[in-house]
Order: sequence, then C-alpha cells, then structure tokens
Amino acid sequence: MRTIVVALGGNAILQRGEKGTAEEQRKNVKMTASQIASLVKDGYRVVITHGNGPQVGNILIQNEVARGEVPAMPMDICGAESQGMIGYMMQMSIRNALREIGLDIPVVTVVTQTLVDRQDPAFLNPTKPVGPFYDERWARERQEKYGETWVEDSGRGWRRVVPSPDPKLIIEGESIKALVDKGHIVISTGGGGIPVIQDENGVLSGVEAVIDKDLGAERLAVAVGADTLMILTDVNGAAINYGTTEERWLGKVTLSELKKFEKEGHFKKGSMGPKVAAIIRFLEHGGEQGIIASLDKAIPALRGETGTLVVPG
Ligand code: ADP
Ligand code: MG
Repeated sequence: MRTIVVALGGNAILQRGEKGTAEEQRKNVKMTASQIASLVKDGYRVVITHGNGPQVGNILIQNEVARGEVPAMPMDICGAESQGMIGYMMQMSIRNALREIGLDIPVVTVVTQTLVDRQDPAFLNPTKPVGPFYDERWARERQEKYGETWVEDSGRGWRRVVPSPDPKLIIEGESIKALVDKGHIVISTGGGGIPVIQDENGVLSGVEAVIDKDLGAERLAVAVGADTLMILTDVNGAAINYGTTEERWLGKVTLSELKKFEKEGHFKKGSMGPKVAAIIRFLEHGGEQGIIASLDKAIPALRGETGTLVVPG
C-alpha cells in the first residue's frame, strides 16, 4: 500500500478574504475532507499535515486582548492550541466524509513537537512575521520590555518577527508511524510542529519561533516512511518565471531539473520556495515522488494529469 503525506496549505482551512469564523473554517475543512476521503478510497494510506498561520495569529490576538483578565500564553502553547483546534475540525470532517462513502477508518490528531537545533543561525536573525499589526509605540515597548523583535512592514504598521529554524526531527514520529502502520489516518505536525529545543541533558523546552509547514511535512514524510509527499496549495504547481510573460508551469520534472530552477531563483522565499525545498529534501532522503498541486486536484495530480510531479534523477 502506498503511503502519502498530504501537506495542506492555508486555503484548506481559510480562503482569501475570510475572517476565520468557525463556520468559514468548518466549511473549508469539510471540502478538504472530501478530497482526503477520495484519496483513501483510491487505496492510499494518508497522513495529513497543515498550516496554522492565521489561526495562531488569531490566538495571539485573543491572548493579547484578554491579557488583563487571563494570563497570556507563550507562542509554543498557542501553537499547540492551534494544532488541537484544527486537528479537531479535520478529524471530525474526515471521519464524516469517510462514513459517507462507506468507510469506517479511525482518524486521530497528534499534538506534535518538532526538534530544532538551538544553535540554528535562524535564532540570531528573526524573519517570520507573526500576529497582527501594531503601532510603533507598542512595538518599541514590546522590544524593551520583552526583548522581542519587531519590524515595520511596508507602511502597514509594526509586526513581531520570530526565528524560523530548520526542523530536524519529529519528536512524536514513532507514535505517528505506529498509528499509520495500524491503518489509522493521522493528522499531525500542524504548522510544521511546535518548535522545541533540547539541552545537553536531553530536556525539551518550547521556543518562541515558527517552523515552515512544508519543511515540517518533509520531516514527517521521512518519519512515517512515505513514498509520496504531496503539497496542496492555492496554485496548480510550481512555475518558472512566475508572474511574468515568460511564465511556464512545471509538469513532470526530475530532481536535478528542479534543483537547477531553484538555484536560478524561480521560487519565492516563504511561499513556493519552502515547498520546492521540501520536495528536494524528500527525494534526497529516499522519497519516490513529490507533488505540488491545487487543493481540489489531488487525485488528478497523483495520476500525473495536473500539477508539478518531481521524480528522482
Ligand atoms: P500555502 O498556504 O499553501 O503554503 P503559500 O502562499 O505559502 O501557500 O504558497 C503558495 C503561493 O506561492 C502561490 O499562491 C503563489 O502566489 C506563490 N508562488 C511564488 N513563487 C511561485 C512559483 N514560482 N510558482 C508558483 N507559485 C509561486
Ligand atoms: Mg506557505
């Protein structure tokens, strides 16, 4: 049986322009769940991971606004909250979608920690914006009081930036694999996993950082021994000369072709860049194929009819 890790982009939970009400998220997750159910029906063993940016952003606002009433939680705990929230919606929706097509398969969410290197150079250079925009006074106060890093974002206000270290290891990897091997559908490593570091005695602790969800998905795919890593997003694959008159969407490409395009700088940092990087790593770690496709085209993409398919060679 083929094992496929499906990394769901932000649009799987929230569409552009939506505010993030429970109804909106439930509706989107339901559509996503029917895609997942068709993969399962087609005979794939499916492992799911997802982004959490807007959800964590909203949780951070809730914490900030209620600070005088309820103690605010640090980022790692907010990350765990978002995994539980999204995982709950997904596990219910996927179970329902499977039921509808006559399949009774257990679906479970695993709150996941991802180990990062405490010496990762990313810690010296926070780059990833999180949470809402504030004014300069607020930003300066946070910098002085809490030692946070804040940057002005193209005239839109001030935003906190945190490090985005490279994921090394999925701490719950063995548990996730055991569940997958038993035939359970597992949702895990949400938002790339909660970043944790380990001290010289092996003691884990959470850090104020975020992991890229696509790079986290690659670690997950290796941990469960997947043969396919499929990244579903809001465009139909990876393009070269993206957004120009020379734009060309990539269909089937080899690993070495993709690496050449990556070197030439075709894939934007923070969006398509990490997807391509994740697939390159996956194939270099023994993966059989990597796919980047549109969220509603999972099945045709697996048949090679659409999307970008990356194979070794
Ligand atoms: P997700 O939530 O799925 O991770 P992202 O916004 O991070 O979504 O990444 C998808 C976006 O990447 C697309 O909407 C597209 O605008 C952008 N992108 C940047 N470079 C490219 C490229 N070379 N080919 C295709 N899309 C690209
Ligand atoms: Mg992204």
